[in-house]
Amino acid sequence: MLLTITTTYQPATDLGYLLVKKPDRVHSRKVSFGEAHVFYPEASDERCTAALLLEVDSLKLVRGSKTKGERTLAHYVNDRPYVASSFLSVAIARVFASALGGRNKDREELADTPIPLEAGLPALPCRGGEAFLKSLFEPLGYAVEAERLALDEKFPEWGESPYYRVRLSATCRLSELLNHLYVLLPVLDRDKHYWIGKDEIEKLLSRGEGWLKDHPEREQIAHRYLGRRHSLAREALARLMIDEDPEPDETAENQGAEEEALEEKISLNEQRYRTVLEALTQAGARSAIDLGCGEGKLLKRLFKERGFDRVAGMDASTRSLEIAARRLYLDRMSERERERIELFQGALTYRDKRISGYDAACLVEVIEHLDPPRIPALERAIFAWANPKTVIVTTPNREYNAKFEGMKEGALRHRDHRFEWTRAEFREWAEGVAERSRYEVRFTPIGEEDEKFGPPTQMAVFTR
Ligand code: SAH
Repeated sequence: MLLTITTTYQPATDLGYLLVKKPDRVHSRKVSFGEAHVFYPEASDERCTAALLLEVDSLKLVRGSKTKGERTLAHYVNDRPYVASSFLSVAIARVFASALGGRNKDREELADTPIPLEAGLPALPCRGGEAFLKSLFEPLGYAVEAERLALDEKFPEWGESPYYRVRLSATCRLSELLNHLYVLLPVLDRDKHYWIGKDEIEKLLSRGEGWLKDHPEREQIAHRYLGRRHSLAREALARLMIDEDPEPDETAENQGAEEEALEEKISLNEQRYRTVLEALTQAGARSAIDLGCGEGKLLKRLFKERGFDRVAGMDASTRSLEIAARRLYLDRMSERERERIELFQGALTYRDKRISGYDAACLVEVIEHLDPPRIPALERAIFAWANPKTVIVTTPNREYNAKFEGMKEGALRHRDHRFEWTRAEFREWAEGVAERSRYEVRFTPIGEEDEKFGPPTQMAVFTR
């Protein structure tokens, strides 16, 4: 089974740095089902191709499988060694781990840069046919070329096989291409070679980050990726929508006709931003800082509100800040607009001059990302030191997790959450802060409230 990745970015041999595999030799590595080899059939400054060749050991597969009863010829002779499938995803994760994660010690900037890339898959099973193949890759910006393979070239009268020779081209980051392949190859294939459990949801959400939530076929992708275990797929989709719902204005652009339906069912994310904005307006804030602003979704709304003379966003992640800058069109702003906004990197737990001097500070779905022992430092830096008139904190209500079908007891909504508070725990923390730093605090539910479990999100508004 083979996958080739080609670039014409110059010097093209930088692909070797991106994949952390030098072009001048063959790299081999044992995997549980055989052996993976990486080599470069071409490597010039103009064009460079890396090939990932998987040797699948059919005998090993049969021995390793827990198939009951008699083993038939089909257990030994099948398409598994030849076609792109979940084996290839596993191999990508093993052999190109850092490229898949978008990390690169030597060429960080290049890893973050979209470059011309082409993926070649000589034999891809396409469950759902060419139309489905295209509906998976085209929305992600790929040009898709697909040619159906004959069952046997020498006997055309035997007809067509279920396999396609496929070429995908796009200008994107290498990590994007690898993540797309990682998720979508098994979606196109008939079966996965391993048992699909809960941890597959984490893989899907992690490898789908930044693209899956907006993908028009996201439902199909989740169901098929999770081997049609519908309860898992429902949980994955629910978490996609909760954690990262698309902005309604962007959705409207993308999906036109669905706009109305969507507006009726406003996402939790959107409700959160609206509720925070209302609370800020009620408090009479003329300036606000969004702490842990992430990709700048709330910040963009604050900036659009003419009631604010000054807004700022701070986050620890440079990648998120870059996305925020793009979302806000920071580089295309007029000088006057630019004076109304600040965007900078920083940590919530330090006394930093740049976070003081605003009427209000917001921490929207941020506190649960901190290790609990760091929370007193956050309290000191924000409440005692920066001491704005208003502080707004939102966080998940753990009790509500019981409503997510298929979610294990005690599980958290996002893999980066260090904890999630019940309503009582949140109240206890917030009232303690209010007392120590002389604020008043009131609590507001966000999202549809359940009689027993309360709302999905909880908000505290501190005023002094
Ligand atoms: N408020 C945003 C993002 C929430 S995700 C929204 O509602 O969309 C949490 C964000 O907190 C991430 O962007 C993460 O980078 C940031 N973050 C986590 N710990 C942080 C810390 N100690 N200092 C600054 N930012 C932090």
